[in-house]
Amino acid sequence: MNARFQSLAVASQKGGVGKTTVSLNLAFSLVNRGTRVCIVDVDPQGAVALSLSRRLSRSAGLSEWLEGRAPLSEVLVPTRLQGLSLLPVGQVSGLRTEGFGNRLEDGRVLQTLLAELTGYDLVLLDTPSGFGGATLGALRACDAVLVPVQAEPVAARTLARTFEVINELRRAHGGPELAGVLLTMVQSQDPNSTTIVQDLVRTVPSQILLETQIPRDPVFLDASAAGVPLGLLRRRPPPVSLTFDHLAAELEPRLGLGGAEADDVPVSLVD
Ligand code: ADP
Ligand code: MG
Repeated sequence: MNARFQSLAVASQKGGVGKTTVSLNLAFSLVNRGTRVCIVDVDPQGAVALSLSRRLSRSAGLSEWLEGRAPLSEVLVPTRLQGLSLLPVGQVSGLRTEGFGNRLEDGRVLQTLLAELTGYDLVLLDTPSGFGGATLGALRACDAVLVPVQAEPVAARTLARTFEVINELRRAHGGPELAGVLLTMVQSQDPNSTTIVQDLVRTVPSQILLETQIPRDPVFLDASAAGVPLGLLRRRPPPVSLTFDHLAAELEPRLGLGGAEADDVPVSLVD
């Protein structure tokens, strides 16, 4: 994969596997490494906003832009981290969730959105679990997809279903590329978890299964309670936050980010 990708959906069949957590923390690491990122929340439950701030979860966003009630400039939220912006999903009431998914399903409106989101090197789309309208729309509109899979017994089965959907879309649309499968909530002390990891390492080709694995760690709950990515939890972030730097470094070449610019040369430490 050498082409330059501008959009990456984070998607999985199963809920609670860490999509939103990965989206936020990966974005944080990518930005710190020099990529300008916009996170777009296409989950009607507004997981991105919910995990960051109560105010954000009440604000307008993608939904209002879709309905022509707000221009993009009004709903895009800059963050304290230069190079990172968010587009919250906005207000989608439970009753309107289906209509929201239907509007997004063919991918065209999200393609228009992606074309309007200039000024970023990467747009990261956090999707709702499963393959409903909003997720299918994101997959149709985006260049590549990252698939988090939880290290648990049903992993292989949910992964097979996810590959089926991606292959179907690729046959019909020529995309998205599979940026990688990411093991999450890995418990290195738990034999069940390690057996599943070993099975996946054996059966999923190494160019698909990412080397980085996200461990299960209670500190994720602290970060989500505080409404911050791990890297901002405290001045000296916990070790697991570095996992996302590793993930960013592993994904950058797959996404065509960074690399061979003329000014990207070794920097000497002393004169
Ligand atoms: P999804 O977006 O796939 O539904 P989330 O990212 O919302 O999943 O994660 C579900 C829950 O699990 C959240 O409470 C989150 O804080 C927690 N969580 C996510 N990743 C981890 C991890 N590696 N270790 C422990 N808890 C995690
Ligand atoms: Mg989520």
